[in-house]
Amino acid sequence: MDLGLKDRAALVTGGAGGIGEAIVRTLVAEGVHVVVVDRDETSGTALREELTESGHRVDLLVADLDEADRCGPVVEEALALAGRLDALVNNAGFNDGVGLESGSPDEFVASLRRNLVHYYALAHFALPALKEAAGAVVNIASKVAVTGQGGTSGYAAAKGGVLALTREWAAELLPWGIRVNAVLPAEVMTPLYRHWLSGFDDPEAALDHVLHRIPLGQRMTTTEEIATVVAFLLSPRAGHITGQHLYVDGGYVHLDRALT
Ligand code: NAP
Repeated sequence: MDLGLKDRAALVTGGAGGIGEAIVRTLVAEGVHVVVVDRDETSGTALREELTESGHRVDLLVADLDEADRCGPVVEEALALAGRLDALVNNAGFNDGVGLESGSPDEFVASLRRNLVHYYALAHFALPALKEAAGAVVNIASKVAVTGQGGTSGYAAAKGGVLALTREWAAELLPWGIRVNAVLPAEVMTPLYRHWLSGFDDPEAALDHVLHRIPLGQRMTTTEEIATVVAFLLSPRAGHITGQHLYVDGGYVHLDRALT
């Protein structure tokens, strides 16, 4: 199926690795001009070079989105590079373990900056371009927004906020035909996930423990499976889908535990 995304332009945050990288690869394969925003300059540059050599249109903006002040200039630079903006993928985030006891009010606010504020700031600054293009937004949330995890108040609040903003923006942007949806991953093997596993005494056993609780196939969701849904949601093929929270998680959140 042709998604009809050819020659459109997308800004993808956290696109240098993990889920974001898969989204970038999927979008460029559909003919999208992608502007990657990431603070990991080494991985971002390697990805841009590889994809450019294969004839794709990719640009990299190196920025730490924890600093909301960077979001305005990032959008301006993206527009200068791509000339238009049809899609925004808010993906950069970090489960930073700012807990109720282990954290502090200041750390909680910092966690919101890491995981929520730049989602708003980028959508705010990209809005004129998105209106012009009748574009689409996909926000990457997390199962933690609805299941909780324990010990990660900041991240849980941020991801819950991402779900609320998805509905809020979908409502607010109806007059411009801008669709806004969220994708909720649960267990996806990425550099971030590998880093989390490495904190266990026995990472293999910890992974095994998780895998046995994933109903569909007792396996992780692949980054490509997340990316395919994101590309679909950004495309005109999803033209009547807005305000939705899509769980791409092998039934992890909703299916009966007795099935695992
Ligand atoms: P990842 O492996 O860490 O990749 C994310 C990329 O984004 C990295 O290059 C990272 O750079 C960059 N990044 C993160 N925060 C940034 C910031 N503030 N400014 C600029 N760049 C930033 O992460 P992932 O596992 O692919 O996760 C992507 C998204 O999915 C996140 O929102 C995460 O919460 C969500 N998610 C993931 C899972 C999972 O199982 N993996 C589950 C649920 C939700 P650094 O390497 O320098 O940090």
